[in-house]
Amino acid sequence: MQTFVFGKSVNQVPIMGYTFNNSGPKILVVGGVHGNEWEGVSAAKGIVASLLENNPFKLNITIIPEFNIDGVIRCQRKNANEIDLNRNLPTNDWTSEVHKEKYNPGTSPNSEPENKAFVDWINKNSDTAFIYTLHSWEPILNTNGNCDKVVEPIAKATGYKVSPSIGYPTPGCMGTYTGLEKNIPTLTYEIQRDIEPSLIQSLHVPAILKSLEVCQDIYS
Ligand SMILES: [Zn+2]
Repeated sequence: MQTFVFGKSVNQVPIMGYTFNNSGPKILVVGGVHGNEWEGVSAAKGIVASLLENNPFKLNITIIPEFNIDGVIRCQRKNANEIDLNRNLPTNDWTSEVHKEKYNPGTSPNSEPENKAFVDWINKNSDTAFIYTLHSWEPILNTNGNCDKVVEPIAKATGYKVSPSIGYPTPGCMGTYTGLEKNIPTLTYEIQRDIEPSLIQSLHVPAILKSLEVCQDIYS
């Protein structure tokens, strides 16, 4: 496992990344895009721990558990500039219109250092086969691009519904940026908000590990 600094936050806090490279297709797992969604951070860290113990995958997996580290530290959705990182990516549908303050997209696309680091990483790793972005809300497996086979074991384990739409517009979000515009199938995994914390490790982490087996089979 290789540890590296993925980028730095508004407050200059390093955003740590962990790469488990057994060669093979590239997979990216992101947690904590919204700093108050501890469920995704917990799941991403569970995957790191599991792979440290046992990594059977012929995959090149990079995990960023606390993407919005300033938000995680403050336990808030937005970053330290009070911008929603999941509305600030440079997508074709990006808009400066503020629907609700919690969705503040900033005054220009890709203005935030966390997202600049993400865009740089994607540009350098445009051959990435699949992206998981781990959030929490109402349970839904929101797919952008063809995620059908990869999402199947997660839907089976959790009973969560699979949908290409989250149900409301999300301009400048990661699913649109990578899933639709960069042609990297992207799963926005909305874990049930405030579930029993141990369920993250006993249910959701194993479900993601099962789906990594599928990634290995279909992208190798
Ligand atoms: Zn979220």
